[in-house]
Amino acid sequence: MNQDLFEIYQNNMIDENMEYEWMIMPVLKQYDAGDAVMILQEKLHILDFYSGSTTGSFDHATKEAVMNFQIANRLNPTGIVDEETWKLLFEKTTLPVNQMFIKVDNNEEESNTRQSNFVGIVIDPGHGGDDPGAIGNGIIEKNMNLENSLYMYRRFNELGVPVVLTRSTDETLTPTERVNRVLNAFGNSPNVIVLSNHINSGGGEGAEVIYALRNNNVLPNKILEEIGKAGQKTRRVYQRPSTTNPALDYYYMLRNTGSTQALIIEYGFLDNVNDANRLKRYHLDYVEAAIKAVMNYLDLPYNQEVEGLYTVVRGDTLWSIANRFGTTVDAIIRLNNLTSYTLNIGQQLRIPGAEIPEVPEIPSEGTNYTLHTVVRGDTLWSLANKFNTTVAEIRALNNLTSNTLSLGQILRIPGAEVPSEGTNYTLHTVVRGDTLWSLANQFNTTVAEIRALNNLTSDALSLGQVLRIPRAEIPGEGTNYTLHTVVRGDTLWSLASRFNTTVAEIRALNNLTSDALSLGQVLRIPSTFIVYTVVSGDTLWSIASRFRTTVDEIKRLNNLTSNLLSKGQQLLIKI
Ligand SMILES: [Zn+2]
Repeated sequence: MNQDLFEIYQNNMIDENMEYEWMIMPVLKQYDAGDAVMILQEKLHILDFYSGSTTGSFDHATKEAVMNFQIANRLNPTGIVDEETWKLLFEKTTLPVNQMFIKVDNNEEESNTRQSNFVGIVIDPGHGGDDPGAIGNGIIEKNMNLENSLYMYRRFNELGVPVVLTRSTDETLTPTERVNRVLNAFGNSPNVIVLSNHINSGGGEGAEVIYALRNNNVLPNKILEEIGKAGQKTRRVYQRPSTTNPALDYYYMLRNTGSTQALIIEYGFLDNVNDANRLKRYHLDYVEAAIKAVMNYLDLPYNQEVEGLYTVVRGDTLWSIANRFGTTVDAIIRLNNLTSYTLNIGQQLRIPGAEIPEVPEIPSEGTNYTLHTVVRGDTLWSLANKFNTTVAEIRALNNLTSNTLSLGQILRIPGAEVPSEGTNYTLHTVVRGDTLWSLANQFNTTVAEIRALNNLTSDALSLGQVLRIPRAEIPGEGTNYTLHTVVRGDTLWSLASRFNTTVAEIRALNNLTSDALSLGQVLRIPSTFIVYTVVSGDTLWSIASRFRTTVDEIKRLNNLTSNLLSKGQQLLIKI
């Protein structure tokens, strides 16, 4: 294996971006040996293609496992682990690899000891300078990490906690420099907490906290729990040993940070649209949640922020914001030390007294109205619009004396205009637990279709809301699939095998939630074939090369017994 590249892999200079790791793996074939083969065997094992042990030698059983993996993933079963095969292996093992290493370990220490021994917090804004981290959906990781960390720094200062930053500008830091700054801040001690702030990428949704092998999961669990309470999805808390030496941490920020209590907080995935949208609006809420968890862990007083945070959107003015939150322009200016009246989109403002109010009496569901819980962004006007009613009606039904709404407030919404059943849709009344996604799944449609049919501008549903649901239609022929009508004897497995695809792909393409098929059901089948007409000069080899397949594969698909082709001959080609 290329030594330089392997060193990068081992030292994890590429950080946590799974996305790039496969790129540095060498091509492997039978009789190769070494660490890369061990990684290969581990991955095949996790994916259930290999049941042998992790020997590091590419033997016959390993080759067979590789071929089976390739077949299952519609790659040519060459038994050679090329770039494409590595990529898929990494993609498919991202989650299970991490899950494998979740340790259950609940030795809750005495929080008194924590508090009395506690020395300080080092905040590490991940990446920076030449290393942007992950980029996607309008987020550059290094910038959001810095913004989050500066906020965290300011808040810990306010809370009277000793705190140091590894960088406070857009600075390039080598792993060694970064680690040195961590260890020089308060010394190398288990009573130092290191919070490395990151935004994830690589296909996933929600926050994660990774902690060092030397530590327990009490603090990471508290942090993830609080981030969840702040409205972000949460994935898991886990440890990750190095693939080559399981006694060491995989991430250098955990491996090389001495005996400190170091953890990496991934607030969400910027390559996931939902996460990215939440992060853009609420990232500081999630950071505040992490701060709260740390204070709670240390048993130090946490001043519940009385001011909420509000992110400026297009069209906002200081006056409209003050109005919405029932405060004054002056109070916002004072609280945020603003020097001008100009606001920038995305700017975070602290709002005086905008905490979610206690709801003294929850109105019960009635026959003439449904209930709606006010979320960020709701105005009387937007609600009237959404529910096809008027501001006056909502005000009357709720005895409102002003237009100001508070987050969490429960409103009666007049239910007069209920959509009627149409030819292209059926009606569904939202019950507890419904989400756009679950409904799309249940009714064999898409979130986009439901949103469009109901003119929804957000994904929030309210109990009792009546939605139009597109009627399941017989799918039309598309470019990426062909249609198949289910006949007696068909199973998802037999179809997958016949059409050279996978059960998972057929299920996904048809939004199937079970494996049961009914006679006459029309299924979309991923189209993986084209019909190619032989022209003069063609050989099996040239065709195979053009379509990135193999001579053997073409012969197998077309039952050819020789390599001879005739002009005009039609061949089925797997693409
Ligand atoms: Zn990162």
